[in-house]
Amino acid sequence: MSFAKLVFTPLSYTGWGALEQLLPEVRNFSPKKILVITDPVLEKIGLVQRVTNPLIEHGYDVELYTDVVPEPPLEVGEKLVSFTRQGKFDMVIGVGGGSAMDLAKLAAVLAVHEGTVADYLNLTGTKKVHKKGLPKILIPTTSGTGSEVTNISVLSLDTTKDVVTHDYLLADVAIVDPELTVSVPPRVTAATGIDALTHAVEAYVSVNANPITDGLALQAIRLIGRSLRKAVENGNDKQARIDMSNGSYLAGLAFFNAGVAGVHALAYPLGGQFHIPHGESNAVLLPYVMGYIRKSCTKRMADILNALGGNSTYLSEEEASYKCVEELERLVKDVGIPNTLGGFDIPETALESLTQDAVKQKRLLARSPLPLLEDDIRKIYQSAFTGV
Ligand code: NAD
Repeated sequence: MSFAKLVFTPLSYTGWGALEQLLPEVRNFSPKKILVITDPVLEKIGLVQRVTNPLIEHGYDVELYTDVVPEPPLEVGEKLVSFTRQGKFDMVIGVGGGSAMDLAKLAAVLAVHEGTVADYLNLTGTKKVHKKGLPKILIPTTSGTGSEVTNISVLSLDTTKDVVTHDYLLADVAIVDPELTVSVPPRVTAATGIDALTHAVEAYVSVNANPITDGLALQAIRLIGRSLRKAVENGNDKQARIDMSNGSYLAGLAFFNAGVAGVHALAYPLGGQFHIPHGESNAVLLPYVMGYIRKSCTKRMADILNALGGNSTYLSEEEASYKCVEELERLVKDVGIPNTLGGFDIPETALESLTQDAVKQKRLLARSPLPLLEDDIRKIYQSAFTGV
């Protein structure tokens, strides 16, 4: 195929203070009853009130739903969808990290469908999304998932993760205001930042990459490469927060259009079986997966090295690709995320069940520039376990 299908939506506001655009955008939809979906931490620290208060002051009927948990299990999605169907809402606003935004888009769409959330899961579901659902505005408070620009909602199952995906899950409006990320603690800044970097790196080496997604991915890598350490060290560093917010948004657009691959396929079982936050699962695996597939994309790895601030000028492509893996390793270490599976107390006996769950992620594995079969996956987990 010599052409690419590209989806660059929704209407977005990005930048410090972008939240001011919420009220005029809500007015455009003339809603009577708005459901705001968030997590309890964001209510406790008063962040979600920055969204709800102006709406309430302007006479909107706003109901707050705060039962979102990180890496939401399927049951949490089922409960929220039932609640949304009963509540007769006519607009949904998701405020939070990927967990809250994923549930908000799911609730907005499945509110107008029949059946359970399980019916619509990608790997095991039997039903297809076929209606647009309620209007939805997504407001990220982490710089990581890019969920505000993707059509994916991720749910945790017993041992792995699955997704509901359809273009109707795309937000109508995304408001990406880095000011809302200032309160993110260092460990979450680190994990979500490496998540965004992983999106960009995997999109750049994906078999579905194209010149448009390449531009988005490389700029995301540049911004994240220059600012992630700074944002982790000092959450009040305004420029670093702005760079991370833009980097995460660009990486979201890049991976939504080019796809993610091996790192995500191997990370999902770590989240499912050991409840490791998504960004940390990606972070621990990123250097090992890229080290394994390096030979299939040395030129692209050299580009990534340069975008991260390295210099490949006097290196062969082969040398630059090695250096790129080292640079990724260093970044993960510098932001304080364990660099082996042992660092997460994962026993060697778990490697086989992780492998068996990862091979099921065929949709993701198909985008790897180096085909990853069962034995390759086993070897990657083994090296992430031993650290070599
Ligand atoms: P998260 O939403 O689970 O949030 C992590 C923690 O950070 C929570 O405790 C939350 O309360 C806290 N937090 C969020 N914003 C904060 C703020 N401004 N100040 C203080 N604390 C704050 O984490 P996440 O990494 O953003 O999202 C992870 C979820 O997103 C996973 O389920 C993952 O699978 C999914 N995901 C979705 C997509 C997509 O395209 N839809 C892409 C990648 C990941």
